[in-house]
Amino acid sequence: MRIETDCVQAGYNPTNGSPRVLPIYQSTTYKYDSSEYLGDLFDLKAEGHIYSRISNPTLACVEEKIAKLESGTAAMLASSGQSAIFLAIANLCGSGSHVLSSSKIYGGTINLMDVSLRRLGIEISFIDPDAGLEEIRGAIKPNTKLIYGETISNPSLVVLDIEKFAKAAHENNIPLMIDNTFTTPILCRPFEFGADIVVHSASKYLDGHAVALGGVVAESGKFDWSSGKFPGFTTPDESYHGLIYSKDAPNTPFITKARVQLMRDYGAIMSPHTAFLLNLGLETLHLRMERHSENALIVSKFLESHPKIESVNYPGLESNKYHELQKKYFPKGSSGVVSFNIKGAKADCVKFMDNLKLAAIVTHVADARTGAIHPASTTHRQLSGAALKAAGIGEALIRLSVGLENVNDIIEDIENAL
Ligand SMILES: *Cc1c(COP(=O)(O)O)cnc(C)c1O
Repeated sequence: MRIETDCVQAGYNPTNGSPRVLPIYQSTTYKYDSSEYLGDLFDLKAEGHIYSRISNPTLACVEEKIAKLESGTAAMLASSGQSAIFLAIANLCGSGSHVLSSSKIYGGTINLMDVSLRRLGIEISFIDPDAGLEEIRGAIKPNTKLIYGETISNPSLVVLDIEKFAKAAHENNIPLMIDNTFTTPILCRPFEFGADIVVHSASKYLDGHAVALGGVVAESGKFDWSSGKFPGFTTPDESYHGLIYSKDAPNTPFITKARVQLMRDYGAIMSPHTAFLLNLGLETLHLRMERHSENALIVSKFLESHPKIESVNYPGLESNKYHELQKKYFPKGSSGVVSFNIKGAKADCVKFMDNLKLAAIVTHVADARTGAIHPASTTHRQLSGAALKAAGIGEALIRLSVGLENVNDIIEDIENAL
């Protein structure tokens, strides 16, 4: 089936007379006919569920859908994007490991890496995503276990050259992990460009309605774990009946280990009700991403032509630094997030924000309703003018998340506020 059909139907195949819509299995517990069967479940010899901290039938259907959308072999849902990213990194790294990450990533992920993971003894270095292949190669260390980046970075909207990073990673037997939150598998499937692991904040476009926090980890199933760099995948896991993930789960070693070892121990799983809401969002993902992208491009062009606008940053614009990469990696569109600088001072931006009527002041992005934020007066208000500049956030920068309303209403609202 094509991806639009998979958005609507994949993952849940009701049998004769059973509910047409994915049911919410609100059960922590499962029942077995024999102890032997439960024993087989623990040995991964039988299919089924043990406890809803590890897996659940509602989640399993949504995981299968997302794995299919990403063209991967398996996926695992988590309680938030942050927990998904943490579990995915912890599945590869421990004290003494090194992570090489693009410097242009979500602020929450920077904190996770730069503060919390460092505290656990994981070494982190950040590299400019525009760095050349040689520079990336030079930043890889003998203990590097992972290279990390975002397809379109939040909030700087930098486009990652996925193939360039995949090449540097694979030359060194290291997997490439990509945060695909802004593009979603509708606009970009990082596995097709060499990524090995994909993570998402499902709280953004996958849900799409700003009703549920969630996260996803997915794997391509193609990475070769046998280089000796990843003994966790090739030697018996004594905490899980001596399982060898690369041998006992050959198509899904990363997700199997993440689930039966890390989700078991850290417990950051999504609830069945949230998985149900996420699935409703996924049923329209293909339509929404198309319209978000279409509206955002029209709004970007309007902004670019407006005399009160200094500059517009949107990868879909021909004037954009990353337009060639956009055409290569997500030719169908660049999602709904746009940023721009107003000609004027901080106070003018505050006035602009307060003038908006249809667009709401929100910290969130990527849902059906248009929203905007002025970082210099809100999320980044503690920073001085110089520190703002260093963070790549001007005093007059506005981030706009273009929603699914009629684009003319969105434009009229912005025009009126300007
Ligand atoms: C929001 C976001 C996250 C964090 O996800 P939560 O669901 O808020 O925990 C991670 N990466 C990106 C790109 C995001 O936009």
